[in-house]
Amino acid sequence: MRINRRSFLRAGAQVLAASPLLGAVPVLARENGKVRARDITVQDVNGLALFVGAGCNVVGLGGPEGALLVDGGLAVNAPALLKSVSAHLNTRRVQTLINTHWHPEHVGCNDPVGRAGGTIVAHEVTRQFLGRRNVRSALYDGLIQPLPEHARPTQTTHNAGSLEFAGETVEYRYLPAAHTNGDLFVHFPKHNVIVAGGPVSAVRWPVMDYLNGAFMHGFVRSYEILAEVAKPDTVIVPAHGPTLTGADIVRHKDMYWELFRQFFVFFNKGFGPQDVIAARPLQDYEAQFGDPAQFLEAAYRSVQLATIPH
Ligand SMILES: [Zn+2]
Repeated sequence: MRINRRSFLRAGAQVLAASPLLGAVPVLARENGKVRARDITVQDVNGLALFVGAGCNVVGLGGPEGALLVDGGLAVNAPALLKSVSAHLNTRRVQTLINTHWHPEHVGCNDPVGRAGGTIVAHEVTRQFLGRRNVRSALYDGLIQPLPEHARPTQTTHNAGSLEFAGETVEYRYLPAAHTNGDLFVHFPKHNVIVAGGPVSAVRWPVMDYLNGAFMHGFVRSYEILAEVAKPDTVIVPAHGPTLTGADIVRHKDMYWELFRQFFVFFNKGFGPQDVIAARPLQDYEAQFGDPAQFLEAAYRSVQLATIPH
């Protein structure tokens, strides 16, 4: 059967309707209630500031004309985060804000930063999604609504770009179909730090927004890209939780590639997501990362969505 966009979407809707875990997927945003500035902890990461507690990991660098931030936490926490940024980076404004992707716990500072005239950098698809109504995600209950015009990215790329900030080069690049349809990672070569965003996680399984472009092949390709750019001792900052190293990324890349290969064996056996979960293809890693059921379901559904004609 010929696959067109309509039949692809219809197949997607049916897979979605059949998902027993939808709605039970942890809503990351819910884990962090409204916080105060003193609840946000700040760690030094090779000379960059890592702000933890606003809804996602936020990385900051001070400059003469304001701060550069990568990601911005939840909107409800933006005042607390910006207060903490001001105090620790000794600046009153955010000059440049980079969104690694459009999920709500990453774009919470877009409104105040955009309103104050800061530059917001993102993938072009992230800009489009932040202007879209009624976005449904595999990771959130309900529908996501657009940000106001001034809160949307003003400087976008489809692939890669760089900017000069406080005398150093900051690079950003697309991670194709990794966690959403518009993921960027941000590389600070001078600090030997990569902010990897949604696809990476040190202590639990990452999540894949398979309804919005995340696809297992893109996910493993993204690990290849990160492994090419990172050195073994590069600090990798994920969207949530503790940092990793470039050496960890190489190990994770091999683990996810092996899983992707196994998916095609399962596929040929006619397995559905629950069969894949029951087969426990990641059992060697469960002690480190916990129960992989939700990750496996999302990853396998992403392959079904992309390959089953309907
Ligand atoms: Zn996300």
